[in-house]
Amino acid sequence: MDYISLKNFVNNLNNKYVSTRVIGKSALGKNLYGVFFMFNDSNNWAVVTAGIHAREYLSTELVVKQITDLVDYVNSVKTLPDFNICFVPTVNPDGADIVIKGIKYLSADLQQKLININKSTNFTLYKANANGVDLNNNFNANWNNKFTKTHEPSSQGFYGYVPESESEVQALKNLTLNLNPFITISYHLKGEEIYFDFFQNAKEYLRDKQMAEVFASSTGYTIKPTQHISSGGYKDWCVTLGIPALTIELGEDKFSHPYPASQIKNIYNKNKDLLNCLIKCYNIYNSYKDR
Ligand SMILES: [Zn+2]
Repeated sequence: MDYISLKNFVNNLNNKYVSTRVIGKSALGKNLYGVFFMFNDSNNWAVVTAGIHAREYLSTELVVKQITDLVDYVNSVKTLPDFNICFVPTVNPDGADIVIKGIKYLSADLQQKLININKSTNFTLYKANANGVDLNNNFNANWNNKFTKTHEPSSQGFYGYVPESESEVQALKNLTLNLNPFITISYHLKGEEIYFDFFQNAKEYLRDKQMAEVFASSTGYTIKPTQHISSGGYKDWCVTLGIPALTIELGEDKFSHPYPASQIKNIYNKNKDLLNCLIKCYNIYNSYKDR
C-alpha cells in the first residue's frame, strides 16, 4: 500500500475508541502513523508494526485488514479487550513508495542519490529507507555485530553510521518507551517463521517462547531461533527492555521477491486471528508477573 492510500485509510477511520496520531516523520518527511485503539486509559498496550522493510509492503496490507476487522469487532461486541492496541501500519513509507511507485516522482538529486545507494535503477527489491539504512538493523541492540556485512548505505543490510540514527527508528523507539507494551509484533515477509529470542533470562525466555507458540499454533508458522545472528532489530531492542517481542515472517517461502500481491489472501487467512492471540499472550504475560 502506498503512502497516499494509507493516509486516506487512517484519516477515514471513525470509531470512538480509535484515534490516529502522527508518531514521527520519515527521512523524506512523510508522516509515520500510529492507529491507537484505546479501550481504557489505564490498560496495558500491545504494539503491532509492519512495513519496516520497503519491499515487504504486503505486511502493511495485512495490518490494514486487521485494523478494519478490529473496528468491526469493537462495533459489534459488549466486552472489550482489557488491553489497548497500537498499530503502526508502515514504519518505512518512503521505502514502500520507492518500491511500489519507483523514483520518477522524486527530485533529480534524490533520484541520483537513490540509484547510487541501490546500484541499480530497479527498486523492486529495495529494503532500506531513503537514506539507504536498513531500519531493522539500526536499533541499539547488539548493533553492528560480526554478522553485519554492509558497511555503507545500501538497498539492504546497512546498520547506519550510529545506532538509532534514523528518524523512523527514533519514532518507534519513543512510541515503545511511552507505551511500555506487554508485547510487540513486527510483521515482515517472507518465510512463515516466528522469531522471539534475544538473550532473555530464563524466565523471560520461557514467557516469550509461550507467546511465540500462541502465534505459531494460530498461523501454522514455525518458531526459529535467531538471537545469535540478529543485530539491531526492533524485536531485539524490545527484548533488551524486557518486552516480549515477536518478528513474524509472513508468506510462503516458495514465492520470490517481488512478492506476488495475490498472496495477501493466504497471508490474511493465516493471520486474521490477531486479537485472540493477543488475549492469550496477555494472559501469559500476567501469569509471569507474579512468578
Ligand atoms: Zn523484513
